[in-house]
Amino acid sequence: MNAVKISLKSRSLAKVIITLILVLLLVATGLLVLFNLTKSKDKLVELNTEQMLGIIQTFAEILDGDSVEIDLLEKRKSADYDKWSAISDSTLKRNGIKYLYVMNIAYDDSVEIYLESENHLGKNNFLEKEDIADFNIDAIKKLKEGKENHVSFISYTPNYGWLISSYAAIKNSKGETVAFVGADKEMDGMDKDVREISYNFLFASILFVAIVFFVVLFIIRRIFISPITKIIGAANDFNLLGISFENLGPTHIKEYDALIESFRRLEKKVNDAVKKSFTDDLTKLKNRHFFTISMGNILKPSRQEKKIAFFVIDIDYFKHVNDTYGHEKGDFVLKGLGAVLQELFGNLPGVVARLGGDEFAVCLDNIESVKTVEEKCKALNERVSKIKCSESDTGINVSIGVAVAAFSTKPPLYTDIFSTADAILYKVKSMGRNGYKITELKAE
Ligand code: GH3
Ligand code: MG
Repeated sequence: MNAVKISLKSRSLAKVIITLILVLLLVATGLLVLFNLTKSKDKLVELNTEQMLGIIQTFAEILDGDSVEIDLLEKRKSADYDKWSAISDSTLKRNGIKYLYVMNIAYDDSVEIYLESENHLGKNNFLEKEDIADFNIDAIKKLKEGKENHVSFISYTPNYGWLISSYAAIKNSKGETVAFVGADKEMDGMDKDVREISYNFLFASILFVAIVFFVVLFIIRRIFISPITKIIGAANDFNLLGISFENLGPTHIKEYDALIESFRRLEKKVNDAVKKSFTDDLTKLKNRHFFTISMGNILKPSRQEKKIAFFVIDIDYFKHVNDTYGHEKGDFVLKGLGAVLQELFGNLPGVVARLGGDEFAVCLDNIESVKTVEEKCKALNERVSKIKCSESDTGINVSIGVAVAAFSTKPPLYTDIFSTADAILYKVKSMGRNGYKITELKAE
């Protein structure tokens, strides 16, 4: 048995499905990472803003508003650092707050810095005007007018880049806003945090994709590809033709192609085997097995009355043919008779068969009249006489016994028809052969 070759061009179903799943998983992961990146950045900014606001509000409450007011009015440069120490330097460091101010807006809209802590508490001590470009004047004004107690925003400053800023009002004992505490935090640190979160998330996603991928791979192999491969193997065991799969196109999926091809071969084999089991090898007419099955169909009860003609045909002195001319000539005669029967009856409704040896049978379904049967018998006797084993031979003779039966709902038994026709045939034989006789079966 030839091994079935499958072209490398032919794509494997497993490969197609796995690639598809992998692409889908990767796209989904990519989208998820992107979504989480923006989401976590927003979340981080929100958290930082809240934290900063909390810290500067605490500062604003600790500072003595009346003292700050006097200091600012009298432009006193001496600041009371003890108040600041309530919140330690480490609080600012821990929260990544880089700049802390106590400030006020002067009459000319400039920003007066009363205290500045660039490198955290106690390092600087000013009372001077600053460039307003570095401050959000609108936000400070809102606080000064008492519209808000605190504000937070993200802004870009030419000197320090992107900053998260939070301001809170410092109030005197009368509840009036006298100055503001402000804090800035650079966004760079946050970008680093976001990147770190993203890397962790990416790593977790890749791990997840890998696990899902291998689980899917296992499932596909186990419940999908392996049964198909087994079916192909089983179907290929029936392979007699040894068809090669070399010419499959590049878009073919090899498991299904192989499976379909195997089933095609199987189907052809089964069809051939069935056909063979119904055919007589020598004459190529139908055999006794098929004839019996067909008789079952012909003898089914019918609504309208119908007539059938059952012929049994036997060659006269066929043994003599074999003895005189040899077995091969005998076969030639059998084939010749088969061809004549096929020619005379093959196109009519019914069945033509070689029952065995030199015995043949024909059943014509739905005949018009007995006259038609008679004409067929005469034609048959005449046509077989043309089959000759030698030039001097007078030709072959056959004896024909015919049983005609008419029925509708109550069909006759197959055995009755057969034995009637057979009995008539032997009557013909006993009366000198080379002729026919027709008898009509009485309906019950
Ligand atoms: P009768 O007129 O009484 O029918 O005499 P007969 O010689 O024809 O006798 P019978 O029908 O009994 O003989 C059948 C012979 O057919 C016997 C057997 O050797 C021969 N035969 C059977 N099958 C084949 C076959 O396939 N090929 C050949 N060549 N001969 C066969
Ligand atoms: Mg015979």
